Amino acid sequence: MILASLVVIFVLVGLLFSFQHRGATEDLRMRGVSLVRVLAGMPYEQLVPDSAAQGALGVLRASQENTDFAYALVTDAKGQVLAETTAPGFVIPQSLVLEDLSNWQGERTLSPPGYDRELIEFYAPIIGANDSLANLRLGFFSPVYGPTLQQLPFFATLALVVFMLTPLFYVMLRREIQPLRDANREISQLMSDGQFGVVQIHASRELGDFMQRFNQFIELAKGRISALEAEQAALQTSTKLLTYRRERIQTVLQALPDAVMVLDESGEITFANRKLEVLLGVSAEDIMNKPTLTWCQDPAVSCFLSQYNTAAASKAFDDSTVRFNLSRAPERKLAMKAYPLFSPREAGEIYGNLVVLRDVSREAQAEQGRTNFVAHLAHELKTPLHTLALYSELLLGPDGKNKSVRVDACNVIHDEVERLSALVSNMLNITKMEAGSLSLDRQRVRLRDLLEDVFNHISKSSKAGELEFELSLPRELSAVSVDKDVLRIALNNLLSNAIKYSEPGGKVMFSATETDDAIEIRVTDTGLGIAVEDQERIFEKFYRSDDEDVRNRGGHGLGLPLAKDIIELHQGQLSVESTPGEGAEFIIILYKEAGLVQQAI
Ligand code: ADP
Repeated sequence: MILASLVVIFVLVGLLFSFQHRGATEDLRMRGVSLVRVLAGMPYEQLVPDSAAQGALGVLRASQENTDFAYALVTDAKGQVLAETTAPGFVIPQSLVLEDLSNWQGERTLSPPGYDRELIEFYAPIIGANDSLANLRLGFFSPVYGPTLQQLPFFATLALVVFMLTPLFYVMLRREIQPLRDANREISQLMSDGQFGVVQIHASRELGDFMQRFNQFIELAKGRISALEAEQAALQTSTKLLTYRRERIQTVLQALPDAVMVLDESGEITFANRKLEVLLGVSAEDIMNKPTLTWCQDPAVSCFLSQYNTAAASKAFDDSTVRFNLSRAPERKLAMKAYPLFSPREAGEIYGNLVVLRDVSREAQAEQGRTNFVAHLAHELKTPLHTLALYSELLLGPDGKNKSVRVDACNVIHDEVERLSALVSNMLNITKMEAGSLSLDRQRVRLRDLLEDVFNHISKSSKAGELEFELSLPRELSAVSVDKDVLRIALNNLLSNAIKYSEPGGKVMFSATETDDAIEIRVTDTGLGIAVEDQERIFEKFYRSDDEDVRNRGGHGLGLPLAKDIIELHQGQLSVESTPGEGAEFIIILYKEAGLVQQAI
């Protein structure tokens, strides 16, 4: 406040000085002009007296005591001083005297050498002696700029007034700007609260109008912001909905068991699921929106996809399935098919295509297996039929009358019919099993009785020959839930093999043991045994050892696969242990109910 007061005082004093200086200069000018006019109108003799009498100039100097008077001169046309008078102590510099003046009345500002103050000179032409032209010149010091002692009381009074008025102004100013400060505080508060509200202040008229308009503006902005927020919320909701729908579709496509690619109208790949990476070895990122040739190593795939490269081609609906072997894994076969994506709104309009790739290696293998199976079967059926035809012809011919030939022929025909019957029944059972139509009729069976019955039946059959048989069963065996007729087929096949692949004098053993959760049945013989490389393959259909001894004993390679299928259908296991030349042991494990639960866990 003191500083403000001082500033005000200095400004006022400065203004006063300037005003005072201007007034004093004006006064001097008026005085100088009127004096020069009056003196110029006086007779020459009075200005430049002949005698030593005091001229008008002397009178003038005397009358100008205590003023800014500097000098009065009368000079001729050449600048020679004709009469002069000066303020005490002032010496007119010669350079000023000799200066040429115009022949007209005027004034000029001079800076006399050796003096701080400037001079204002007033001059006018006069008629001198002998009608010659002379000049009258009056010089005055220009007014001093600054305070004088006389002015001090005035300035003191002024300062006092200013010091008294400044607090008043300050209070009034504060009162006027108080609403602005309030508004500032309220706006800061609203900003820190993160709100957008009306500023409540009481202000004078102009400021009140301004605040009212400011509040109206805030209301307008609030309305606009709420509208924008509503729009943003709606936008976010629809974005979320779209994202949710897109993700749902992608999840469905990812969950498909087959590999899929989505092509747009121009044939560009816009989506590919993870299965594609498994099949083709390329990730979705590798192929999306990229030309097929840059990532595809399979000519069949690139050729297939190139059909959809143009917008026109994508509208063509090719429903054929392309099958090909993978170049990076030739043993795998894939099937590829495209499905057009029709627009739900415009009939006939196609958005693109859905390309589905499926691994059909197993199906191809199964198909190949079926073909081989039929070929094998035809071969296996043909051989005994051929033998039967030969012997029936023999019986019909003249040799048929020979008794021993007839007996031999009947024995061969009987054996072949048995083999044929075994083949047909094995084949039928296998076919049923593969078709899934062999349903088990499981019942709780006294397994000991079943095993004894199968063993007795086969050990007394004609096949038994000169072999030793041994049955080793515990006194009690828990009842298990099996289909006894079907299980009998498997047991029969194993026991028949044990007899078939044994040498005369050999031994066939049939035993069973029981643990807490399973029953283990062993069919053991001391026959040919099975080579290690054959042990892995004897459960394949139609597989027979190349061993000559084995080949001599006839067979079709269906007995073991059927037995294994049957045991596995009962959730059991069939395995083999053998030392070639010493015999073979086939082990069946049938789980009891507790064991089955254990296995499931
Ligand atoms: P098949 O006996 O009609 O040839 P199988 O499927 O029953 O057909 O047997 C497959 C092959 O397993 C036989 O060809 C034989 O090589 C071998 N094999 C099966 N059982 C025995 C066994 N007890 N001793 C030696 N080899 C056997």
